[in-house]
Amino acid sequence: MARVTVIGGDGIGPEVVAAAVRLVDAAGGQVEWEWAEAGGAVFEKGVASGVPAETIASIISTGVVLKGPLGTPVGFGEKSANVTLRKLFETFANVRPVRELPGVPTPYSGRGIDLVVVRENVEDLYAGIEHMQTPDVAQCLKLISRLGCARIARTALELAVAEGRGRVAVATKSNIMKLTEGMLQREFLAAAQDYPQIETSHIIVDNAAHQLVKAPEQFEVIVTTNMNGDILSDLTSALVGGLGFAPSANLGTSAAIFEAVHGSAPKYAGRDVANPTALVFSAVLMLRHLGQFDAGRRLEQAVFATLADDVHTQDVKTRPPVGTSEFTDAVEARLGRTSLTPSRDYQRLVLPDITREEARTEPGSRQKVGVDVFIESTDDPARVGEKLEALTRGTVYSLKMVSNRGTVVWPATGAATGCVDHFRARFVVTDFSRWTQESILELLRAVAGTYRWMHVEKLETLDGEPSYTRAQGEN
Ligand code: NAD
Repeated sequence: MARVTVIGGDGIGPEVVAAAVRLVDAAGGQVEWEWAEAGGAVFEKGVASGVPAETIASIISTGVVLKGPLGTPVGFGEKSANVTLRKLFETFANVRPVRELPGVPTPYSGRGIDLVVVRENVEDLYAGIEHMQTPDVAQCLKLISRLGCARIARTALELAVAEGRGRVAVATKSNIMKLTEGMLQREFLAAAQDYPQIETSHIIVDNAAHQLVKAPEQFEVIVTTNMNGDILSDLTSALVGGLGFAPSANLGTSAAIFEAVHGSAPKYAGRDVANPTALVFSAVLMLRHLGQFDAGRRLEQAVFATLADDVHTQDVKTRPPVGTSEFTDAVEARLGRTSLTPSRDYQRLVLPDITREEARTEPGSRQKVGVDVFIESTDDPARVGEKLEALTRGTVYSLKMVSNRGTVVWPATGAATGCVDHFRARFVVTDFSRWTQESILELLRAVAGTYRWMHVEKLETLDGEPSYTRAQGEN
């Protein structure tokens, strides 16, 4: 018996989770369920994280969760309880498989779509580190680590091996974000050296979106950063019938959380109309994770057989729909049937266990070469440049350029670049013999006499290479 923490969640969650639990048991899954709470009801009790201590204790003890969607207050106030769970348990890989389903007509029917999006799950813009830098300019930090990239890259390659898939593409925006998105591209291509049997490639993420709509059958596994993966995996779920059919697994070395890609669909809550398939397929992923491959196959085949018989909930517009419970009954009645859609042969997925030390690189040389200081000002760029240049006199720095939202506006470029009240001044060290840590503070003191500064970045070279990017238009 495997112990699993089960969370009903919000909206349609309790109905689709109940369906999945019933079907896992009926399919012969050896699971002892531990019911726990998270989400809306918990926020209402005043627990700001949406995840109470008892739920965390249960997950620590079981290491496996089947959960319904949790409603997230949008835009302000509480943090998402989903993101809290993913981050608390460092479930760094979000695995989202989709495949063409029998009896679910789509514009792609007959093309044999069968692919997995492997999304990095704890870094990137979802770290949620945001600041109002001025009253009118907001910033969100995109933090990407070598450790995060190495383990998601290897997870995707291991998944291809475990599922007998031959191709893995890494999708990034490395042409624009060379250091952050580029890090995943570089780590993936390095890891790929250890998997000569897998065909690997890089694709720019916007082209990946284009190709997924044009010829999705060319992909087997796509590995990508958190934000890209969020968007691409909603797209891929639409290719096979929509969110009602898209399962996911959040995998980490201490816990695995299985849930549908969809949210709580509040308008359908309590009406016995929601499609439970996504949650049931998530339970199939869970059974495989538990090594209960036979029960997983039996359940998957029963769902395929049900769909092939044109038994559908109202999100599939073919026959008159059935409700959530009638659909669940129909799947249960087909347990033991083999459908015409074969299940894959799965082996256990071995997650890479890369330590922080293993992912760490030690550059041979590190040289301070300057500092970027971000300031608030409504002055025009010429005035900003003039004032900042004047205050470098007598310091070890000179002003190299000023940019506004990443584009050089001083020295003047002749272009009519629009400006907001948020400038970045790039100061470079001109006198290395006099430079000390104190030099940065002296510079900041000087800037503060003229402008309100809110953010500073040191500029370094690592092994002689700049560890920062140029501004648009900077030479
Ligand atoms: P949603 O997925 O709930 O709904 C999007 C659309 O798909 C709606 O039209 C909905 O009715 C439909 N839909 C979704 N699941 C369905 C199902 N099983 N059967 C039939 N139709 C289904 O997305 P949303 O409206 O953007 O979000 C609602 C709430 O869910 C928000 O609070 C959001 O934060 C939360 N959410 C939670 C998760 C999660 O828990 N992992 C994921 C996404 C959104």
